[in-house]
Amino acid sequence: MSVYLDNAATTKPCAEAVKAILETVTENFGNPSSLHRAGLNAQLAVDKARKIIADSIGADNGEIYFTSGATESNNLALRGIVSAYGKRKKKIIISSVEHASVEETASALEKQGFEVVRVSPRDDGQFYADDFAGVCDNDTCIISMMFVNNETGHILPVGETFKKVKRRFPEIITHCDCVQGYMKIPIRVNNLCADMMSLSGHKVHAVKGVGVLYIKKGVRLIPIITGGHQEKGVRSGTESVPLIVSFGSAVEKYSPTVSERFEKVSSLKKYLLERLAEIDGVIVNSPENASPYIVNISACGKRSEIMLHFLEQKEIYVSSGSACSKGQKSGVLEQFGIKGKNADSAVRVSMTSETTEKELDAFADALREGIEKIRG
Ligand code: PLP
Repeated sequence: MSVYLDNAATTKPCAEAVKAILETVTENFGNPSSLHRAGLNAQLAVDKARKIIADSIGADNGEIYFTSGATESNNLALRGIVSAYGKRKKKIIISSVEHASVEETASALEKQGFEVVRVSPRDDGQFYADDFAGVCDNDTCIISMMFVNNETGHILPVGETFKKVKRRFPEIITHCDCVQGYMKIPIRVNNLCADMMSLSGHKVHAVKGVGVLYIKKGVRLIPIITGGHQEKGVRSGTESVPLIVSFGSAVEKYSPTVSERFEKVSSLKKYLLERLAEIDGVIVNSPENASPYIVNISACGKRSEIMLHFLEQKEIYVSSGSACSKGQKSGVLEQFGIKGKNADSAVRVSMTSETTEKELDAFADALREGIEKIRG
């Protein structure tokens, strides 16, 4: 039995998403920009997906822009706003635990002369809205905060922060990277007070290479990809109709059950924690109020990579706790106070609502065996 517990890295595409791709590539292969019937049919398929995704976050169809993934969405949000406002406003605010697609983009802008303020969690490992609101001023053009941290599942106080910021500085653009929260926790753009929101298809059982940037009506940004004016000129390039349609199909399937699945995964997390409590030396790094979909643990000082390969031999797939790109540490765990041996031995388990207790048993048993057998 192979046990896939790395769903924060990517999810298995659902049957509906795969079917939608096959149908689109074989039967609806027109270019949405073409003026004939084949083009129109492709355009209609893209617009259907746009409406499904818009409805899933409480947005209007016209506020959804398709991209190649959340990395591009995050780049477009930050770079696009900075290009639009950056002559007047020089400050960018982000959390200190953002995904590389926000962090590295902010760093690149920092090198170009923008001031980047990174807000850290307090000693209790939690973020506070006042800490973000307190560093905003009239020189700030954008604040970007992730909804759920991809390494630990920490939920950031995005709605509370954005409301505070908007009350005092209505001109500041608010952006949320919702990749790890979307389709897992109910999300509405209005509740979050978000002007922009990034989503990714392959984290929600569609396929890799498609994402969305929600841009609230009236927010102006300068595109980073120019060309044939697709997506109302915000993101040029022929739309990847099959991937977009797959994204729409997956969201159509999972959108009605977000709360139900949250409850189910919360029970799975509870079960996993009970199993882990039976193993000496396992520390749970994710806080109790984290997203249940992600559980970050440290395994008794055993190096993550070695544990990963031990588990892999048993066909159990998890991630090293500090997942960034292949072995490179991101520093996020340290921000949450997880340091030294605990950070080096961190393992991330990420579930779906289809994960079973049997799979979690297999993981817990193999982890216990790994802790016993791996030296050092
Ligand atoms: N943001 C977060 C929080 C993520 O976890 C990821 C992917 O791991 C991304 C952005 C990037 O998404 P994509 O793979 O669609 O570029």
